[in-house]
Amino acid sequence: MGFKLTSKDYADYLSRVTDFLATKKDYITDLDSATGDGDHWANMNQGFQKLKEKHDILASQSIPKMLLDTGMTLMSTIGGSSGVLYGSGYMSASKALNDAEYIDIDNLYVLLNNMLKGIMDRGDAVPGYKTMIDALYPAVSVLKHDLDNHEDEIKTLNDVKQAAVDGAEKTRDMESVKGRASYQLNKGVGHLDPGAVTMSYLIVELMDYTLERGKQV
Ligand code: ADP
Ligand code: MG
Repeated sequence: MGFKLTSKDYADYLSRVTDFLATKKDYITDLDSATGDGDHWANMNQGFQKLKEKHDILASQSIPKMLLDTGMTLMSTIGGSSGVLYGSGYMSASKALNDAEYIDIDNLYVLLNNMLKGIMDRGDAVPGYKTMIDALYPAVSVLKHDLDNHEDEIKTLNDVKQAAVDGAEKTRDMESVKGRASYQLNKGVGHLDPGAVTMSYLIVELMDYTLERGKQV
């Protein structure tokens, strides 16, 4: 397939995932009301609507500048923990891709792996803590595994997508260690982590966008 995403492609994806997130208001708000303070959808929506407004600016930037601007916009627009975490994730991805001209499958790994590192460093959390990391970590792991095994790109993108969805689903049985759900008596057991679910949406939409773009090259 050999896809190569440009900044315009990535900005298109960000606008598309913003529209998708907008349709999940009640579901995500209910999840965060069960284990947190109910604002996770509003936080994410606010940040991503701002990215959608900035579509044309982001589309015109280099890859590292576009990723940095995305991170800084999310950090300054989102009030809750997710703003700082996504902000740190995108900033760390920008640094790692500081001379990238496009995002191909190898750079996609660098982007997601460094986003994971940025989030883990900033939030001092690891996989299994019932957070957004539990959707991102398995996605990054399977991407690495498939790249190392020279798997077909279409299979790889679909594997990444599935790993994110499965990872979010697994948070249901986890006991929360970091974040507001950890203050609850039962540590949120029995409920999905809202941040893991929105992270899985972001990954699924990125994979779907990439699969579609890949068909055109
Ligand atoms: P807040 O918790 O400040 O209200 P949000 O509601 O926007 O912020 O985001 C909550 C989500 O953030 C949680 O569902 C969880 O996935 C994620 N989260 C919270 N703390 C951490 C952390 N230390 N590391 C990684 N993710 C975290
Ligand atoms: Mg919240």
